Amino acid sequence: MKKDYYEILGVNRDTSSDEIKKKYRKLALKYHPDKNKSPEAEEKFKEISEAYAVLSDDEKRKLYDTYGHEGIDSRFSREDIFSGVNFGDVFSEGFGDFFDFIFGGGGLGRKGRRPRRGSDLRFDLEITLEKAFKGGKKLVSFSKLETCKVCGGTGAEKGLKKQCKKCKGSGNISFTRQTLFGVVSQYATCPSCKGSGEIITNPCKSCNGSGRVQVVRKLKIKIPAGIENMARLRIEGEGEPGEVGAPHGDLYVVVHIKPHEFFRREGSDLLCDIDITFSQAALGAEIEVPALDRIAKLKIHTSTQTHTVFKVKGEGMPYMNSSRRGNLYVRVIVKTPEKITPEMKAIFEKMAEQEKRVNKGLFETIAKGVKEAFS
Ligand SMILES: [Zn+2]
Ligand SMILES: [Zn+2]
Repeated sequence: MKKDYYEILGVNRDTSSDEIKKKYRKLALKYHPDKNKSPEAEEKFKEISEAYAVLSDDEKRKLYDTYGHEGIDSRFSREDIFSGVNFGDVFSEGFGDFFDFIFGGGGLGRKGRRPRRGSDLRFDLEITLEKAFKGGKKLVSFSKLETCKVCGGTGAEKGLKKQCKKCKGSGNISFTRQTLFGVVSQYATCPSCKGSGEIITNPCKSCNGSGRVQVVRKLKIKIPAGIENMARLRIEGEGEPGEVGAPHGDLYVVVHIKPHEFFRREGSDLLCDIDITFSQAALGAEIEVPALDRIAKLKIHTSTQTHTVFKVKGEGMPYMNSSRRGNLYVRVIVKTPEKITPEMKAIFEKMAEQEKRVNKGLFETIAKGVKEAFS
């Protein structure tokens, strides 16, 4: 929903155009992005300028009063809304970059461009599941650009620079232009010094005038216990250097956890498979299960079927920033013996006889039940 133009300017529907102009001038001086550095200022400035463009034009104001925003938006493009408005009449002093803000131009200030912050860097770090479990420090080294120490990032030999003649050190050049709004003076970044206001006469030999050199950086990264795969760790100020006077970017370490040969991870739980024997499955047993930091004990009940999953509480991964831990889920696989000794053969033959008897008994019970049901 678009806000009401009168509300935006804080005026009434019957406020005179002179009053509207005064009100707009006051608000524009308050919110002009050159003067007001708050993040909402630019949006606010565009908003009040659009409201003023409509309400200061008799025809557009009438349309707006009758049909509201639809009356304006259906007839005028964004650029047309501003056509015919004499902003120069509102401001005796020129707001050169005024239109850039309205039409989405860059935030070119009148005192030269602000120095740019350095770019962020990404580093992909592979760690083991054990490291993710324990946490701790990890040394990484990578190549990146750093501020040249010889020239302090200025790019000039001994830091010496000369003021740019073309823009007289301001970083911007002004020119006048005939536009829809009449003659306006505009500013652009000085092409000679690219907005810095200074010219390097003797480039620094160490960095060839760029102010940056390639270095190998070694860093100890702190890995929190329980870190997830693909987690990003932000390391402030370890990105590339900014322009002189601006901060470094940040370094983002993306953590990749190598697949483990024994455990699979699901959130804070660990999963694994353990082989058990026929007799352990049949008779029940207490078996040893390797967790990540110790050997845990697991009780298997009698008549355990293959692929049954048992929970070992609290033997999973730690939760980040917590003393709690997930669980370990053990899936037991009943293994057929690969070697059968004569003794084992005799036992299995006895067992086979027993199974026949048990199964026959079972069959007779079922057959009796069926017979009774049909008689
Ligand atoms: Zn240098
Ligand atoms: Zn210049």
